[in-house]
Amino acid sequence: MTREARHDILFEPLAIGPVTLPNRFYQVPHCTGFGVTKPASQAAFRGMKAEGGWGAVCTEYCSISPSSDDEPYVSARLWDDEDVARLRLMTEAVHAHGALAGVELWHGGLGANARESRLPPLAPSQMANEHTPWVVAQAMTVADIEREQDAWVAAARRAVAAGFDIVYVYGSHSYLPAQFLSPLTNLRTDAYGGSFANRARFWLEAIERVREAVGERCAIAVRIAADSLAAAGVDPDEGAAFVRAADPLVDLWDAAVGAEAGEHRTDSGASRHFAQGYQIELTRWLRAATSKPMIGVGRYTDPDLMADHVRSGAIDVIGSARPSIADPFLPAKVRDGRYDEIRECIGCNQCYSRANYGRHIGCTQNATAGEEHRRGWHPERFAPAANADRDVLVVGAGPAGMECAIVLARRGFRRVHLVDAAPDVGGHVGWLARLPGLGDWARVVDWRRIQLRRLRRQIEVITNQPLDAATVRSYGAEIVVVATGSRWLTGGDPRLVAPESVADGLPAGAVAVLDGEGYLVGAACAEHALGLGRRVTYHSPFDRVAPFLDETLEGVLLRPRLATAGLALAPLPSSLADINADVIIDARGRRSDEALYHELCDDPGDLEAVYRVGDCAAPRMLADAIFDGHRLAREIDGPQPAVARVWLRG
Ligand code: ADP
Ligand code: SF4
Repeated sequence: MTREARHDILFEPLAIGPVTLPNRFYQVPHCTGFGVTKPASQAAFRGMKAEGGWGAVCTEYCSISPSSDDEPYVSARLWDDEDVARLRLMTEAVHAHGALAGVELWHGGLGANARESRLPPLAPSQMANEHTPWVVAQAMTVADIEREQDAWVAAARRAVAAGFDIVYVYGSHSYLPAQFLSPLTNLRTDAYGGSFANRARFWLEAIERVREAVGERCAIAVRIAADSLAAAGVDPDEGAAFVRAADPLVDLWDAAVGAEAGEHRTDSGASRHFAQGYQIELTRWLRAATSKPMIGVGRYTDPDLMADHVRSGAIDVIGSARPSIADPFLPAKVRDGRYDEIRECIGCNQCYSRANYGRHIGCTQNATAGEEHRRGWHPERFAPAANADRDVLVVGAGPAGMECAIVLARRGFRRVHLVDAAPDVGGHVGWLARLPGLGDWARVVDWRRIQLRRLRRQIEVITNQPLDAATVRSYGAEIVVVATGSRWLTGGDPRLVAPESVADGLPAGAVAVLDGEGYLVGAACAEHALGLGRRVTYHSPFDRVAPFLDETLEGVLLRPRLATAGLALAPLPSSLADINADVIIDARGRRSDEALYHELCDDPGDLEAVYRVGDCAAPRMLADAIFDGHRLAREIDGPQPAVARVWLRG
């Protein structure tokens, strides 16, 4: 296959200050949960993206000094030589593939959680952080300002020692430099407050001093979110004025939108709320204020759109966090014209949740994300299996079964049979992706369907074929993987409807949604029913609709939408009889469909091994079901495939 000529523009090198970006694919800073506490995981994760063709690969936010400690969240740090040694592993891994390494030097100011340091946060003026109002910042003296600027310079020098090529003076997402710029958080009356020139002074001085210290060796990048005054965001006109004022000092602008959290958190927008390329108008507008290269983000996975946006002049570089997590080899696949191999991000934000709350990144689409070091998994390379001569029957072609079959084939199994009772592959994603806002989730099935076709000489896919234990035993396979999924539990009231059938239509009348899970399904069913014009009441044990959606940045925008559409909230009643509705969508809980697995375990006949993966083992998140199918296939020739091998922890 060859690349389309219209994508050539994405492979033009670009000078940024003293260094050259080899192409237009740039992994912007994003969290991993690794920081400097898991340096080997950090290095392997970022190095993999460089191997996959990203022209530059950055760290997550990287604290410049102990006065900016964000525990319990995991940032990188450049406080001393030990941190330098840890991050040097990453720059070496990135340089090994010819990419540039960037570090996002950061001071959180008012927004630093400071749980480890126990130091007061520092801010332009004394005020409470709107998200942790029980913590009040210390207003910075001029001596504090000079000391933190010194710390920024010292961290930049350490960044050079660690081997970084791009150094950020990170201000966006309402951190310290933006707090100085915003009149909402800067109430000072001295030379650092009041007029625009005074409010811009802290950031400009920091950029100038970092540039003086390391500008000969490194490109100076600045990340700015100039779209909102709220919550220490930056007013659009003042943002553009700042870009003009700082432009001579900056080699690369990295534009983002929104503030750090809350309802203004529109960066990393979930697919539920934002389409691919959604930040382009803001970036186009900021672009007019600078003569320097501009990065724009927006969950880009379509090379046509990327090339169009670069060609239009609105941006020069495709910035990417999530698409680079879902497919570290996206640039290489575009470069080689292997378009049908691109594994597109679905915009679910599990990566964000896992990095920030689970302290170890993971991805729904890419089971290997975060596993490069600890499990030694490469997203594109698969070791031949010692038992690849066996026939494997995978029962159930949901996400877990599909993933398992694909990895088995990539490991050299030549006779994999993937059998499903349903008319199509995809399992529960088939109905889930037809609920409002979840259309991009179908990419989970789309990508795997294409890979099954590409591997058709090794994988036989059979649909409309329910299998019972006797048929499985006599199928002719030596190894059986049961991936039969799970079902929502319903029963006890004729008005009950299972979530599986909601997208196909609802009986007439008022609707109640019972949500015992607090994540995706209850809220999506409620939105679907509201869209049909029904009166809808959401019953749950939670204090708000779908609390887990706050970890994925979806809840804060979804809840007002549901409220505007008329959603009423109520607790779970003690009896279904107390519910005043014609239809009750029952999303209280799921149970594994494990009968077949147990029957086969009780009587395996001549089978060599029986395993189960995905929701059939336990109903969990989609990312975990896919991971489970992937893990079994990776470890199927180990001593005890049913049990995960112990992983490295560095
Ligand atoms: P997971 O998320 O673990 O992949 P899903 O519930 O999405 O689970 O998919 C399970 C799949 O297994 C469904 O497509 C279902 O039709 C299929 N399935 C369940 N029981 C059988 C069976 N006995 N024979 C064949 N297919 C089955
Ligand atoms: Fe995209 Fe979801 Fe993977 Fe994050 S977890 S990269 S949003 S598919």
